[in-house]
Amino acid sequence: MEPATGAALIAGLKALNEIVKGRKDPDASSKLLEIQSQVFDLVNENQAMRQENAVLKEQLALRQAVELRDDGAIWRKGDQAGHEFGGFCPNCNHEQGKLIKLGTEPRGIPIRRTCSVCKFQIKGQWWK
Ligand SMILES: [Zn+2]
Repeated sequence: MEPATGAALIAGLKALNEIVKGRKDPDASSKLLEIQSQVFDLVNENQAMRQENAVLKEQLALRQAVELRDDGAIWRKGDQAGHEFGGFCPNCNHEQGKLIKLGTEPRGIPIRRTCSVCKFQIKGQWWK
């Protein structure tokens, strides 16, 4: 027997439909229609849950790849070569899981880092 994939279930229902058609039993036809509808709903729900699960896994991986540091910004942890990336807006990262690089205002004294999305600011940080 095939594993219970959506395609296998639908193929099984089609085969069962052919059998039920030949018997001309209205109760069996009606019950089969009801079951087909439930299977389609479950297949659709399963697909939506798989997509949601993929998004959540992606968000979890991103969360595990970054950290809030003493300078107040979010930094992406180093890759195998030791390169680190940042600083990113802690507000946008916390609220939406996004990595928005804090821009520089070099004329400001002390230097300010500003988020272009939410306008969050960090003052006095000198990272490049
Ligand atoms: Zn922001």
